[in-house]
Amino acid sequence: MSETSLGLRFWGVRGTVATPAADRLRYGGNTICLAARLAEDEYLVLDGGTGLRHLGAAIRAERAGKPTTIHLLFSHYHFDHIEGLPLFMPLYDGHSRIVVRGCAPRRLSLRDTFEQLIQPPWFPASLAGSPASLEYQEIDGNPFKIRDVTVSTLPLNHPDGSVAFRLDRAGRRIIFATDHEHGDPVVDAGLTAFCEEADHLIYDATYIPSEYESLRRGWGHSTWYAAVALARASRLKNLVLFHHHPEHTDDELEKILALARTEFPQTTLAREGDELPL
Ligand SMILES: [Zn+2]
Ligand SMILES: [Zn+2]
Repeated sequence: MSETSLGLRFWGVRGTVATPAADRLRYGGNTICLAARLAEDEYLVLDGGTGLRHLGAAIRAERAGKPTTIHLLFSHYHFDHIEGLPLFMPLYDGHSRIVVRGCAPRRLSLRDTFEQLIQPPWFPASLAGSPASLEYQEIDGNPFKIRDVTVSTLPLNHPDGSVAFRLDRAGRRIIFATDHEHGDPVVDAGLTAFCEEADHLIYDATYIPSEYESLRRGWGHSTWYAAVALARASRLKNLVLFHHHPEHTDDELEKILALARTEFPQTTLAREGDELPL
């Protein structure tokens, strides 16, 4: 086992849309982004919501003008998971090497998915002309390594698709499973096995059960109640409720947490700035 653990930091925890509202800032209003610094000159990033903009500023403050490799892993391409990319400062530094990984959506390559979106008239600069060196690697279902982190993937149940990432490093295991709707028995059984005995599961807990039951079935998201059921079934060590609903205030999130802890005590709420050991 490695002597040192890395910190996987939450840069954005809010689902669907950024929420810069005073009663939602204790947990944070930026959309989805997590990152770990693997080495002085190398970062691993999960999704690129508005949190990615703040990560980019932090990387620039330390690494501007120095060769730096950034691995960007995308669960899928809904706006709340990609909208920070055009404002990611390392794109505009010729010393950056940015490796983009994700599943190619239907009818588009991974490269075209991003290059068609980030160009005029939707954004004043073209991604294809970025000073950074960009590489695209399509995920094919096989595990891959980024330094000493082994990354495995699992397709989830979500409109237009989404994949979960499992990060294994030095005996520690973190699962990032967001934008997933529970209820498909085959997918749920696969996810339970995928999460087996993980140290942390970061899970889509967008809805409370009553919201889900009233009109949100089929929208591709899950509940804290499905999260605790999955946590028990997969014998998790810690559950992290994530992809917070934009209408849920900090106080409401803490009520959800209290309920979830009655079912699975080792539960926390994802909060901007917090880190998980990897
Ligand atoms: Zn989302
Ligand atoms: Zn989505």
